[in-house]
Amino acid sequence: MVSAPSGVGKTTIIRPVLENRPDLRFSVSCTTRSPRPGEVPGKDYHYLTREEFVAGIQAGRFLEWAEVHGKFYGTDGERIDRWLKSGDDVLLDIDVQGARQVRSVFPSAHTIFILPPSMDVLEERLRGRGTESPEQLTRRLAAARVEIQQFPWYDFVIVNDVLEEAIADLNAILRACRCDRAVQAPRLRSFLAPQIL
Ligand code: 5GP
Repeated sequence: MVSAPSGVGKTTIIRPVLENRPDLRFSVSCTTRSPRPGEVPGKDYHYLTREEFVAGIQAGRFLEWAEVHGKFYGTDGERIDRWLKSGDDVLLDIDVQGARQVRSVFPSAHTIFILPPSMDVLEERLRGRGTESPEQLTRRLAAARVEIQQFPWYDFVIVNDVLEEAIADLNAILRACRCDRAVQAPRLRSFLAPQIL
């Protein structure tokens, strides 16, 4: 699971990693926010109305869901279950509240937090993106200050100062996560004696 305050560059880091790892499953979240210019429905998000999202909550569709910046975001549980049962690695881009919910269901899930080099740089990047109204910008910056305080809870931390290094860090962390004993054990069960595992 990867979390980061808005504007840190999480999508820019995740995209090339996914392009190089076709085996890595990326969970496309559902949201009630509107698509940003250039975003593709079904690829960036599944865009739902508030009514559709609430119906999804009531039907138990989401592994986790949270209200972020006044909009709903959630992870489709059925798809995650299917991927995990097939032994696939799954990457979730979710906020702190969602990451905590997933951890409670999957205690061995790894958590990665991406930090900006400083709050000034974060504000600059968020303004430079130009996709938020002044009110949204203020709301996202205030939320970022709160979210950043959560970083000690995460297993891994990446500081996105130099983009190439941040991408290399994410690749390295994902590789290390694959070698975690808790992740390897079910895959090795067929040839290692059950009493060893
Ligand atoms: P954005 O609107 O900038 O795409 O995302 C806003 C925040 O929502 C980000 O922190 C992102 O990680 C989070 N987010 C995206 N998808 C999900 C999800 O499925 N569940 C939760 N809990 N947060 C999500």
